[in-house]
Amino acid sequence: MTFDLAGIGIGPFNLSLAAHLDQIDMVEARFFDRASSVNWHPGMMLPGVELQTSFLKDLVTATNPTSPWSFMAYLVAQKRFYEFLNADFGAIPRQEFASYLAWVGDRLASLRFGSEVEEVNFDGADFALRVAGETVKARNLSVAVGLKPNIPGWAQSACGERCFHNAQAAQRVDRLTARRIAVIGGGQSGAEVVLHLLSREHAPGTEIEWISMRPNFLPLDDSPFTDELFTPQYVDSFLALPQGRREAILEQQILAGDGASTGTLQAIYKRLYMIRHFSKEAMSVDLSPHREVLSVTRDGNEFRLVMRNGFDGAIETRTVDAVILATGYAFAVPECMSPLLDSISLDERGHYRLNASFEVGWDGPDDRRIYALNAGRLSHGIAEPQLSLMAWRSATIVNSLLGRNHFDLELPTPPVGWSSRRVANMQSLRSAERG
Ligand SMILES: Cc1cc2nc3c(=O)[nH]c(=O)nc-3n(C[C@H](O)[C@H](O)[C@H](O)COP(=O)(O)OP(=O)(O)OC[C@H]3O[C@@H](n4cnc5c(N)ncnc54)[C@H](O)[C@@H]3O)c2cc1C
Repeated sequence: MTFDLAGIGIGPFNLSLAAHLDQIDMVEARFFDRASSVNWHPGMMLPGVELQTSFLKDLVTATNPTSPWSFMAYLVAQKRFYEFLNADFGAIPRQEFASYLAWVGDRLASLRFGSEVEEVNFDGADFALRVAGETVKARNLSVAVGLKPNIPGWAQSACGERCFHNAQAAQRVDRLTARRIAVIGGGQSGAEVVLHLLSREHAPGTEIEWISMRPNFLPLDDSPFTDELFTPQYVDSFLALPQGRREAILEQQILAGDGASTGTLQAIYKRLYMIRHFSKEAMSVDLSPHREVLSVTRDGNEFRLVMRNGFDGAIETRTVDAVILATGYAFAVPECMSPLLDSISLDERGHYRLNASFEVGWDGPDDRRIYALNAGRLSHGIAEPQLSLMAWRSATIVNSLLGRNHFDLELPTPPVGWSSRRVANMQSLRSAERG
């Protein structure tokens, strides 16, 4: 059979789309993942890590609150509803959200695990996916393969057993036989790795160096007006801007998406206090913000770091036994899409050109669409790689696929007047009301 839609990857984003499609009988969809189940970022499942988003921003609730695949439905099915409320989490454990995602992943009929998509072609009528050696045909595609760990150029040659990206932290940090450990990166992942290292009781004598390019160890901004950036109305205003302006605005918004949670920073500070004043011998910690790492070179069993101090302009060096790169994640067109590259429209950075409904521009027939999720930070804005708008994005894609508004996505004008277009509309509306 030919599916109406084939999904590549079953992380939260395609899982949300699958959950939205689950109740639409006329759409036959099939989603594939190479993993054996939904396992949300296992490499960063360190003890005590927390979700940075409200659990209400789950797979479905924002657009489809009666879906059986909500976080609330999961809690009730686990018979955990009262205990969960009584625990009164400020931020919920990431383990709980991962368990919710896995619960949905174990139940949706359209999902196939252990199924790597090796190659995608277009045969003139449909997409032909080679999945674990078999061919699967589909009229439309939804590509949601996540982002790749970002290894900066200066770290490439040093990577190996004792220099690795934080995406593997949970499996590797506790096995490190290293006394001096540098963590490079001042975002949430860097902070979580540092907190974990500071909390290890079995590692006396460890020297930890936390390095960040940012001028300080800065918190995630999740104040109300910043949270307005994570709304569909903001995405609408953002989409309408020229590309250069969008990029400049994203630069200014870095702490809205990539800062460390205040709770994690507080926990680090408290650990530091105890280490400095009550267990001096056990561990030493150097905090080095405002440092731009210029090179990391391996010298025998050691690594030599050279960095520029942005505070006073000096060049500094450090010698350590291990380096953990908390250097973020980056977009890449997946290998399996290579056969379609000549037909797909990419911008000068190699990112898909997307329309408002997350469709990739391509030269195939109009009724054969490629949707890309977690690929539109430059077009749709800061919320794109986050959980916040995943339900809305899924509903937008379903509406586009069906060619009608199955999900009602109309919203009132936002409280903040981002664009002059919106302010002008409001003014003419008010003067019309006044007569
Ligand atoms: C540690 C961590 C914590 C985060 N916490 C939050 C948070 O609290 N709040 C928030 O808003 N955002 C958070 N994010 C950001 C975002 O929500 C997640 O990165 C989210 O997992 C993105 O979902 P995704 O579906 O795009 O990709 P992923 O979760 O990366 O899933 C992609 C899937 O595609 C599969 N795949 C790839 N290629 C193929 C192929 N060729 N064939 C078959 N399968 C394939 C992979 O196996 C994988 O399962 C966090 C990110 C990280 C890294």
